[in-house]
Amino acid sequence: MRVGLLGLQGAFLDHIPHLERCKVTPVVVRDVQSLASIDRLIIPGGESTVMAKFLREFGMIEPLQERIASGMPVWGVCAGAILLAGQIDGSRGIIDALAISVIRNAYGRQIASDTHSIQIALLGLKEYPAIFIRAPRINCVGQGVTVHASRDQDPVFVQKDRMLASTFHPELNADDVFHRYFISL
Ligand code: GLN
Repeated sequence: MRVGLLGLQGAFLDHIPHLERCKVTPVVVRDVQSLASIDRLIIPGGESTVMAKFLREFGMIEPLQERIASGMPVWGVCAGAILLAGQIDGSRGIIDALAISVIRNAYGRQIASDTHSIQIALLGLKEYPAIFIRAPRINCVGQGVTVHASRDQDPVFVQKDRMLASTFHPELNADDVFHRYFISL
């Protein structure tokens, strides 16, 4: 299985050891051609405005929307979750594939980044140390979106069909449980 990592900017390399341990092939995706060659895609954390700019410039938004609409599994991590969202800060989303609305940088400045212990029954995790790096807040989830985990009242790990979004960074933790789940979709 070829698992794409959107490699325009951000924390895509950190996913590679996880994917290798899961015995799948990581493929860095930077253009429309490589997008056509993958079975699923991780959109990493980073800076969503920069990734959105490059996605537009490289003509990747429509092909990406088409692949997602035809059932390709996709997982957005932090900035990746922002890019997948239907609404960003009250405006129409970028890829606009997942019925969530997000507020960027809602937990404060870079310095307010932190680790929160969260529970994720779906993955059998009781006290998972989720790492939030200038994370967005998911402030609304639409119909058919399942909330797998929350931080206080806020959803932080959601799923609709074969789409996942996490506002924290599982690639920075040692275990492969999120990657295994994504690959199983
Ligand atoms: N603050 C970033 C943004 O708004 C997201 C941060 C991250 O991906 N860790 O795009």
